[in-house]
Amino acid sequence: MNYFLAIIGGGPAGYTAAESAIKAGKQVILFEQQSLGGTCLNVGCIPTKTLLYSAKQYYNATHGDKFGITAESVSFDYGKMQQRKQKVVRKLVAGIRAKLNSEYCTVVNGVAEVASRTDEKVVINCNGEQYEAENLLVCTGSSNFVPPIPGIKDNPKVWNSTEALDAKVLPESVAIVGGGVIGMEFATLYHELGVPVTVIEAMPTILPNLDQEIVGLLREKYEKAGIKIMTSTKVTEISDSVKCQTADGEIVVEADKVLVCVGRRANIHGLETLDNLEYNRGAIVVDDFMKTNLPNVYAAGDVTGKIMLAHVASRQAEVAVGRMLKQIPLQRIAYNAIPSVVYTNPEIACVGITENDIDAEVHRLPMTFSGRFVAENEGESGLCKMLIDKKSHAILGVHMIGNPCSEFVAAASFAVRMGYTVDEFRQVVFPHPTVSEILKEVL
Ligand code: NAD
Repeated sequence: MNYFLAIIGGGPAGYTAAESAIKAGKQVILFEQQSLGGTCLNVGCIPTKTLLYSAKQYYNATHGDKFGITAESVSFDYGKMQQRKQKVVRKLVAGIRAKLNSEYCTVVNGVAEVASRTDEKVVINCNGEQYEAENLLVCTGSSNFVPPIPGIKDNPKVWNSTEALDAKVLPESVAIVGGGVIGMEFATLYHELGVPVTVIEAMPTILPNLDQEIVGLLREKYEKAGIKIMTSTKVTEISDSVKCQTADGEIVVEADKVLVCVGRRANIHGLETLDNLEYNRGAIVVDDFMKTNLPNVYAAGDVTGKIMLAHVASRQAEVAVGRMLKQIPLQRIAYNAIPSVVYTNPEIACVGITENDIDAEVHRLPMTFSGRFVAENEGESGLCKMLIDKKSHAILGVHMIGNPCSEFVAAASFAVRMGYTVDEFRQVVFPHPTVSEILKEVL
C-alpha cells in the first residue's frame, strides 16, 4: 500500500500525528521500536508522576500532624509502588493502542530506517519489509545525554533516569548530578521516601531556566528539609564516590547511587540516507510548520531540539499534519505560550516570559491570598507572579510555586496565548474557593 504518511516513533508526537491523519481519512503507517507512548509514557512523565504520587501519600501520612492527623507505624512498600507504576503505564499504552486501532492506521513494531527518498515518496525498511509513503514525519525523540565524566560509563553505581525509574529497591543514599527538571523531580521522590539526597549542579542555580525568585523559594524549603544542594559545582570523576570541583577546591560526595540527569540529545539514527537533511547541534532543523529542508520530510518532538516537552511534541505533530494536508489557514505553534511544570513539592508552574527577558510590570502575591490554598497548604506561603506589558497591559508571563498550580497554569497559558490584557482577564470568572483564583487576585 502507498501510505499518505509514515511516522517513525510512537511517542506523543508520533501518536498524535497518527490520530490527526486518521481523523482526516488518510492512510498512516507508524513504526515504533519499543512501546507506544515513547519516553513520556514508558520512562518519563507518567511513571515519574505515578511514583511521585505514592511518595507524596507516604510523606503526607507521616507529616499529618499540622492537619490534626497522627498516624503511627506508617510504612511503604517500594516494590508495590513500582508494580502500580507498571500497571498505570500498561493501561495508558493500551489506551494509545486502542486510539490507533483504525482502518486508516498500521502500526509496525520494529526499528525503522529510511531506505531512500525522492520528492514523490519515502521508502522505509523495517523488519525486512519495505514500505512507501508520500510524507515522512520523524518523531524519534531523545535519549539521556552521557557527559564525558571519567568513570561514568559501565559504573554500576551510576544510573540514568530510566534505570532509576526501573530500580526495584531504593538506594540508601543518592547523589543527583544535574539540578534540572529531572534532577529536582527525583530529588523530591527520594527525599519524600526518606533517602538522603545531594544535588550537584554545575550552574550557579538549580533550574536555571526558571524564574529565580520562585526557584529560590523551592531551594530554601528543600535545604531546610535536609536536601543538600551544591551549585557552581562540577563533577570531575565518578568512582566509588563523586569527585567535584567548586570555587573553594575539590570535594568528595559519598552516595550509594549516582543519578546523572544532565539533559537529553535528539535520536537521529536511521536517517542517514536522508542526504542533505539539515541539523543544528544534533537536532533536525524545522520551519514554523515542522517541515525540514527536504520537501516531504517533517519532524516533531524532542528530535527537533526545540522545547523537550511532551505537550510541545503533540502540538508540533498537529501543526506538521496540518501543513501536509495544506489546511487553511496554516497553523503555527505559539512558542510564547507553552506552559511548563516541575513536579516538585510544592509544584512550580509557569508560562511565558521571565523578568530576565523583558522590562515588564511585575505583580506578585503569596498564594496565601487564596482561601483554598490556606485551607490545604498548612505552613506554606507559595508565590504567584504575573508579568504585564507596560504599554499594552497584555499578560506576558505567569510564574507560580504552590500546590496545585500545575492544574491551573493552563488558564494562564490561555491568557498569554490569546494576548489577553489585564482588563479582559479580569472579566473571567474563576470558581471559588479554588487556588486558581490567585490568577485574578495577583492583578
Ligand atoms: P535540564 O536541561 O532540565 O537540566 C540539566 C541540568 O544539568 C542543567 O541545570 C545543567 O546546568 C546541569 N548540568 C549539565 N552538565 C552538568 C554536569 N556535568 N554536572 C552538574 N550539572 C550539570 O535536563 P534534564 O533535567 O535532564 O531534563 C531533560 C529534558 O526533559 C528537559 O528538556 C526537561 O524539560 C524535560 N523534562 C520535563 C519534565 C517536566 O515537564 N516536568 C520532567 C522531566 C524532564
